[in-house]
Amino acid sequence: MSEVTPGPATSLGPRRDQLAENLAVVRERIRAACAEAGRETDQVALTVVTKFFPAEDVRLLADLGVRDVGENRHQEAEAKAAACADVPVSWHFIGGLQSNKAAAVAGYADLVESVDRPKLVSGLQRGADRRGRMLDVLLQVSLDTAGDGPGGRSGCPPDQLAALAERVAAAPALRLRGLMAVAPLGEEPDAAFGRLAEIREVFRARHPEAAMLSAGMSNDLEAAIRHGATHVRVGRSVLGERPQIK
Ligand SMILES: *Cc1c(COP(=O)(O)O)cnc(C)c1O
Repeated sequence: MSEVTPGPATSLGPRRDQLAENLAVVRERIRAACAEAGRETDQVALTVVTKFFPAEDVRLLADLGVRDVGENRHQEAEAKAAACADVPVSWHFIGGLQSNKAAAVAGYADLVESVDRPKLVSGLQRGADRRGRMLDVLLQVSLDTAGDGPGGRSGCPPDQLAALAERVAAAPALRLRGLMAVAPLGEEPDAAFGRLAEIREVFRARHPEAAMLSAGMSNDLEAAIRHGATHVRVGRSVLGERPQIK
């Protein structure tokens, strides 16, 4: 686990300006992509992915109007959420998750976007139930065409999605809100997100209330918006390149 330390207080002014500038660029990209797709700008929400960046950045982002932040590693997310308990943001857990950590994630996450197997459903249900809270979840769909790719990228195979959705629907402390996906490396994002749109259509026939579609990152948010994304997850284009540690 890398230690992410904030810079001195004197650096917060320039950092705020930089984040504000980057946010304006990303918001304009979202606006333009929506306009091109004939969608209203308010149909696409921005989740800023703050992994590897300090809690101070979350504060600055909240101050700049960001309401949703994403994290992909449990320990880092848990510590940052605790350090930002007074900051009005929703915490999205977007990363690969070990089943034995699922119950703990349910303690601070507002939305878990990366539910891709039944074992996570039981862990999240247990963790949410224990704290007497309802937890929103998205099912992460694998868009890999060649099975479980070399990197073993996560996601539920499309043919197992219906069964996984039933598991979530049957978990009383979980609320099924929709789908999430990452475009496979090396594939045209439009092709991958086109498949995602078809998968989503089938899924929504059975779960019409689960309308969220989290897709698109710094490099491919326009393609995701063309194919119906309601939430884009943007890290580097807002915060800058992540440090190459870990
Ligand atoms: C890191 C991450 C992102 C953000 O990616 P950027 O390229 O930095 O915009 C989005 N989604 C997931 C699942 C991630 O892990």
